[in-house]
Amino acid sequence: MTIREIEAKSILRKHKKIDSWFISHYGMNLYRGCIHNCVYCDGRSEGYYVDGEFGRDVAVKVNAIEILRKELDPKRKRIPFRRSFIMVGGGVGDSYQPIEKKYQLTRKALQLVSEYDFPVHMLTKSTLIKRDIDILKKINEQSRAIVSFSFSSADDEISDIFEPGVPSPAERLETIAFFKDEGIACGMFLLPVIPFITDTAELMEETVKKAVKAGVDFIVFGGMTLKEGRQKDYFLDVLKKYYPHLIAEYQNIYKENRWGEATREYYSLINQRFDRIAKKYKIPGRIPPSLYRDILGENDLVIVMLEHIDYFLKIYGKSSPYGYAAYSISRLKEPLSTIKGDLRKLKGVGKVTEGIIMEILETGRASYYEKLLTG
Ligand code: SF4
Repeated sequence: MTIREIEAKSILRKHKKIDSWFISHYGMNLYRGCIHNCVYCDGRSEGYYVDGEFGRDVAVKVNAIEILRKELDPKRKRIPFRRSFIMVGGGVGDSYQPIEKKYQLTRKALQLVSEYDFPVHMLTKSTLIKRDIDILKKINEQSRAIVSFSFSSADDEISDIFEPGVPSPAERLETIAFFKDEGIACGMFLLPVIPFITDTAELMEETVKKAVKAGVDFIVFGGMTLKEGRQKDYFLDVLKKYYPHLIAEYQNIYKENRWGEATREYYSLINQRFDRIAKKYKIPGRIPPSLYRDILGENDLVIVMLEHIDYFLKIYGKSSPYGYAAYSISRLKEPLSTIKGDLRKLKGVGKVTEGIIMEILETGRASYYEKLLTG
């Protein structure tokens, strides 16, 4: 293992449009590279330019806190922050990988987030996050915290093969129960499921059942990508060793393409499979509005709900104007409530969408959306 200390130029990443998967305008990565070494990790792919051997080498942004202090200080901002969760985690390195014990960058970043009173959404696979319960509770009381864990399934043996450096799914589930007991909202990112291994109806249902028992507030689901090059080569080597009979199946669904996506038919099949199970257990397949309704500005609230509607309709193979409408709204400078009479002039907004937007503006809810969310 090699640890390199590097100086970063910036820490906070701003999204052009609110990210409706995480309910976030801003994200941060304090490490580049990840000792957790998940076999399917797309941080390994060349497109992310992570130096060194992925899974063994990590770069630590040692000046991160100094920079973040400046970036989070509202007095230094020309354009005010958009209210949303600051996303900590995901990307090219888990914020709670083992070197966090020594550097404590995530802990110090959370202290700043708390000082400046932002809501935070954490995503990790590590139980080390329990160490920061004191700050997370404080943030939750001030402005809200969500703690999410990613899983490829709840099967400990499969996880040993594909997630060699992280606490077992059983330990992650226990940690979810721990945070729920402390009054903090928790989510499962069942992402990615591993084709033909953790995407079976039986294992998915088992995983959902365990997550619901642990108390999760939502489960966000997604399939796996395999980008040509390091990511795909590394994954297929492990697959050959443990599941050689599946190689041909993988060749059928992963044809060469820029994003490493599997076929549309395959994604559609597993999304529908998951949706059926989620509905059976009445667990939202997206972060529910009760966790963000009071945080977001009105335009962002509408964008997120429309994008969630779009997500569900696409799973059901239906055409949807909602993603397009959400995009049009994201380009607006003015609040939607000031142009109520002109909503239909926005691209993608027809009569039905207008009705949904008005309902959200007036009540903070959308009954059509709520039906899609939990069935
Ligand atoms: S924990 Fe996340 S970032 Fe780290 S190797 Fe696994 S998938 Fe990649």
